Amino acid sequence: MSRKQKFKTEVSKLLDIVINSLYSEKYIFLRELISNASDACDKLRYYALMNPGIAKDNGEFKITITPNSEENTLIISDNGIGMNKDDLINHLGTIAKSGTADFVNNAKDNGSVVDLIGKFGVGFYSAFMVANKVEVITKRAGETQAYKWISNGVDGFEIEEAERSKFGTDIKLYLKDDAKDYTDTVYLRHIIRTYSDHISYPIVLDLGKAGEETVNTGQALWTKNKADITEEQYNEFYHHISHNFDTPWMRLHFKAEGSIEYTGLLYIPSEAPYDLFQPDRSQSLKLYVNRVFITDKLDDLMPAYLRFVKGIIDSADLPLNISREMLQQNVLIAKIRNGVVSRLLKELKKRSENYDDYMKFWKAFGTAFKEGIYEDALNRVEIAELSRFYSTNSTEKLTSLDEYISRVKEGQTTIYYMTGDDIPTMRNNPQLEAFNAKGIEVLLLTDPIDEFWVQVLTNFKGYPVKHISSADLDLKMERDAPRADEGSLKRLTDYLAELFKNEVGKVTVTEKLTKSPVSLTVENGQMSIHLERLMRNHQQQTAFASTRILELNPYHPLIIKLADSMFDTDKTQVETVAKLLLDQAKISEGEAISDSSFFAEKISDYILRGWEENKSA
Ligand code: ADP
Repeated sequence: MSRKQKFKTEVSKLLDIVINSLYSEKYIFLRELISNASDACDKLRYYALMNPGIAKDNGEFKITITPNSEENTLIISDNGIGMNKDDLINHLGTIAKSGTADFVNNAKDNGSVVDLIGKFGVGFYSAFMVANKVEVITKRAGETQAYKWISNGVDGFEIEEAERSKFGTDIKLYLKDDAKDYTDTVYLRHIIRTYSDHISYPIVLDLGKAGEETVNTGQALWTKNKADITEEQYNEFYHHISHNFDTPWMRLHFKAEGSIEYTGLLYIPSEAPYDLFQPDRSQSLKLYVNRVFITDKLDDLMPAYLRFVKGIIDSADLPLNISREMLQQNVLIAKIRNGVVSRLLKELKKRSENYDDYMKFWKAFGTAFKEGIYEDALNRVEIAELSRFYSTNSTEKLTSLDEYISRVKEGQTTIYYMTGDDIPTMRNNPQLEAFNAKGIEVLLLTDPIDEFWVQVLTNFKGYPVKHISSADLDLKMERDAPRADEGSLKRLTDYLAELFKNEVGKVTVTEKLTKSPVSLTVENGQMSIHLERLMRNHQQQTAFASTRILELNPYHPLIIKLADSMFDTDKTQVETVAKLLLDQAKISEGEAISDSSFFAEKISDYILRGWEENKSA
């Protein structure tokens, strides 16, 4: 009995793209299917550890490739974990990987195909690049009924009961006319050797009457000597474990010896994955115990700020029959994590010496990496050293904190930063005027995470790290410009404090401004305006707002004029100007203004008047 089931929308779209794409590297379907077969064997091997005896009649793990040039078919078989009916529906009718569905739904044209294949791989569905019909015959380990899944890759699939003696899966491809090459054993041998040699199970080519031939070397790549591994093999292994298609930016292959022994083969990709900031992002560090795959879901193995690292850790010192749950609290895991992290940081340090090279890493992963300053108290300083920031020092190059320190002005004892939404707006913020005038460098921080690490990295190598609003340094400058007189300034601040009592907590006179008449800031130690805005955008803490301080520049002609106007009897004009000034301060801070039509109308008014005056002058 069979019933036609429809693919989920995103699967149909993906298939449509895959089938109609002119993607030239169609041979990748084979490594995708072999990769899945290898994962399936890994899973059964682990399952059998937990359930001894279950796979005793299933034979040695292997992956068999059977071409048939007369029928123009190709079968990829494994004796791995297999799938039951639900698995077939859930895994081969939907796209489980979070984010992929969105991406596929948004992929409008064929231009994004390479991107799609490049970013996500298309896994099982890549079979439809070369086949116009696919049959999957499979039996799940521990179950008795086998099933057959059939699809032409267009509208849906059918599932029916089937026969299969052992646990595992056969994927039978009915090849397209132009895909006959994939029944050619010479070509198949070549593709398998090139792309799947690292697979640790034998990949056997079924030559019919001529018997069987194992094509790959079959040794787990990380157990080989570094000198015996080629660049291509390293990269192919990376593709296999990460499902990425890029060339990794960094590779680290090491053997740790000491209280616990383990091997690591780790990679940092060259591109950020789409789900770097999604809570349910995939984790791609695989844990092996003595070459037996245990899990790729052990979050404790790598701290979250290094979640982009792909690869494997293999240790013979962990108990083989340990459940995944038990592993979470295992002290050995914590030891491995610490060791791995310190190796990675050391390697990053080396790579950070080449600015251009390091920027490739930083642009892709810097935002996630900086979370470590907040999260990882043990390595906080090292992570901060490895972080790079925009600053007022250069519009092009990012700086390290050490470089910042090397440039501090005489007498400057503090590392200053400001936070905001984007660099251009921040550079124009009036709060920076005195710093610029005095040549004091300020870090410009734009990532949400910056608001958090600055709260824990309060000191770096003896320099307190402070927000510019808490500048207790004397920013006073020798000025010979006219200044509003104290009496009228006092009246002005009192007047403005009353006028804006619902919007600002305080009105003060500052020496920090050189160009702007006014600026907004917050009380020392309170949440920055930027953080408050972030919180508001995430619907958090809307009730709480830092006390705004409106700062006036007593040297600015507009403030002098306004202060003088305090003696006028009619305050209409004064009030309008005051409101425009507050709006101006808000805009420089990246804040929304309360009444934009008032602002627009009055500004137009003043522009026109200024224009007319200029004309007559
Ligand atoms: P991915 O391998 O990236 O998860 P695929 O589309 O290649 O995505 O496969 C989807 C899922 O189908 C796999 O995660 C796995 O659960 C299942 N699957 C695919 N091939 C096999 C196989 N040979 N044996 C068992 N399960 C398989």
